[in-house]
Amino acid sequence: MAATEKTQDKTNGNDEMTRIYGENVFNMKAMAEFLPEHIIKALKATIDKGDPLPQNIADDVAEGMKRWALSKGATHYTHWFQPMTGLTAEKHDAFISPKKDGSPIIKFSGKELVQGEPDASSFPSGGLRATFEARGYTAWDPTSPAFIKYIGVGPTLCIPTAFISYHGEALDKKTPLLRSIEALSKSTHRLIKLFDGKPPEGKAYAELGPEQEYFLIDRQFYKERPDLVLTGRTLFGRKPPKHQQMEDHYFGSIRPRIIKFMEEVDRECWKLGIPSKTRHNEVAPAQFEIAPVFEESNLAVDHNMMVMQILREVAERNGLVCLLHEKPFAGINGSGKHNNWSLAVNGKNLLEPGQNPHENAKFLTFVCAIIAGFDKHAKLLRAVIASAGNDHRLGANEAPPAILSIFLGDQLSDIIDQIEKGRAKTSKTQGVMELGATSLPKFPKDVTDRNRTSPMAFTGNKFEFRAVGSGQSCSGPNATINCIVAEALDDISDKLEKATAEGADFNKALQNILSDIVKKHKRIIFNGDNYTAQWQKEAAKRGLPNIKTTDEAIKAIVSKETVELFGKYKVLSKVELESRHHIFKETYEKTIDFEGRCALDMAKTMIAPAAIKYQTRLARGIENLHKAGGGPSKVPMKKQLAVVSKLIAKMFSETGALDKALGKADTKATLKHMTSLREVVDALEGEVDDRSWPMPKYRDMLFLY
Ligand code: ADP
Ligand code: MG
Repeated sequence: MAATEKTQDKTNGNDEMTRIYGENVFNMKAMAEFLPEHIIKALKATIDKGDPLPQNIADDVAEGMKRWALSKGATHYTHWFQPMTGLTAEKHDAFISPKKDGSPIIKFSGKELVQGEPDASSFPSGGLRATFEARGYTAWDPTSPAFIKYIGVGPTLCIPTAFISYHGEALDKKTPLLRSIEALSKSTHRLIKLFDGKPPEGKAYAELGPEQEYFLIDRQFYKERPDLVLTGRTLFGRKPPKHQQMEDHYFGSIRPRIIKFMEEVDRECWKLGIPSKTRHNEVAPAQFEIAPVFEESNLAVDHNMMVMQILREVAERNGLVCLLHEKPFAGINGSGKHNNWSLAVNGKNLLEPGQNPHENAKFLTFVCAIIAGFDKHAKLLRAVIASAGNDHRLGANEAPPAILSIFLGDQLSDIIDQIEKGRAKTSKTQGVMELGATSLPKFPKDVTDRNRTSPMAFTGNKFEFRAVGSGQSCSGPNATINCIVAEALDDISDKLEKATAEGADFNKALQNILSDIVKKHKRIIFNGDNYTAQWQKEAAKRGLPNIKTTDEAIKAIVSKETVELFGKYKVLSKVELESRHHIFKETYEKTIDFEGRCALDMAKTMIAPAAIKYQTRLARGIENLHKAGGGPSKVPMKKQLAVVSKLIAKMFSETGALDKALGKADTKATLKHMTSLREVVDALEGEVDDRSWPMPKYRDMLFLY
């Protein structure tokens, strides 16, 4: 009896997970209940093959979607989109409308599903859309299912959409990603057709598994830190005596308060069909990670945007704050988002070595294409992950450095070496791999030599782009990778087609092409420690770019190569790229400006009064001691007064310099003086009476949660 009960308990527990999984998503199960079969079929053709949705069907889909949403208690719907702010945006409309006689009617038409006009004149457009013609519109993306959001708002039906200007220019992050997915699929089909004689049946998909890092701190501390509230990072703060040097946090047991938070996050994710899988402590104290099972990249990007919001909102209702900034605490590990990217067709991962020489040759061709593309567009890859926040990781001595290189591991590097040497004419040499004839060893996925310092690591069957910032959307990086790989694949196809048309043997031609690629682009392969000064030197020798700051990095967004690349694949036109460059530049400058203003404010109105109060107390103490005939006992106090006074004087000279830099809107000088002001303030933090320090310290925020 007891045993049966136990089993039932267990089943019930599992049942809850399967029951809630996807319950707030208009998925196949919901469609089966709320849509007629022929409508589902048409919709599936749109989703799977990219057919346009027949106009007359939109009304039926909307009707079914509405009935489903109402059954879930939704009162509103919204076109959910991803403007260039890097966040998600929504404007809610109620399903309810009044009739002429004043009685209500519940209404949601096909037109309202397919297209919306958010009147979004104040979203950044980088000059693409003058305010007088503010009509951007949102267009339904049927490849990402609609969902109902309960968290943060009343139940609202969210329809994932792209956001486009009146003239069809992309105003958001989703549009270029969708375009790049099409481009990559086409180029993949073309190359596979050369190998197999026919293209694969289904679409080729980029797949993405974004590992999300974040910090959690108690909400009370957050409220007492204007820098965190306004900028998302601490502008001051002395490193505590104990931080991550003990390495006792990583994968450590998770505290009850945090586990409760994580449980809730997982449940919210599962309800929205987000396959949240892994949770653990990260390297720094108070730092954590959540990782999902990978999905098709458009869906994975949408899901990651939702995950970030879920993290923020679940933290809030647990009296915590989730910090998604790339560097909330100076001197403590920053947060990134490991962007695990692969390419699949018909459920087969093309970055997985195959069962036979033919499949292996294909695999190596894709790997070589990626090497060529990433080397050619290294500056662009640096540009799309550039932000004021991420500069604190990439430009500083932290993972990963600003130099883009690829880690392949010893085994694959060895094979790539052989490809380089193994041009057709020398392919008889022993130990040299012959494409289309030699088998490959199996690559273990969890190899011990897996390098944690590389910005782009091949990890068995995927490339892990680790330079993406924790607060960034994965959209830009993935649209870019897709496009770069599409071009590199087409390059190979062009050459293969030409050589075989001239009568060359397929495998020999391929061998020559890949050998040339390796020769030309192997400089980007680096299996060593990316954190060392030696690598910086070595990379310079190899001619690899090493761009430390955002304002430098983003120039590549409008370089000739980028305009050509994105233009060729119709992912972003020159005008669209220029507008994005404009937005990134402005965002960067604005961020530094308000960080500078916030630092100045805090120094003058919080730090200075506390420091001066302490200084006055010391002075009075010395005076009193003197009156009391204190003699030599006043000497240490005098010394302390001198230290504090000197720091206070220095602080005022730094606030003056910062003020001036801000007045001139000089970004570089602002950054410089923020850093030197911080040094003085952090030194003061180590001198001034702890009880009168005007804000929570690192040791409070990082250890008390
Ligand atoms: P870690 O890098 O922390 O050791 P894993 O390698 O297990 O973790 O996976 C990290 C992420 O990579 C997960 O989100 C996982 O779903 C994703 N991932 C695994 N395989 C692929 C793939 N073929 N394509 C894209 N992402 C993948
Ligand atoms: Mg990883």
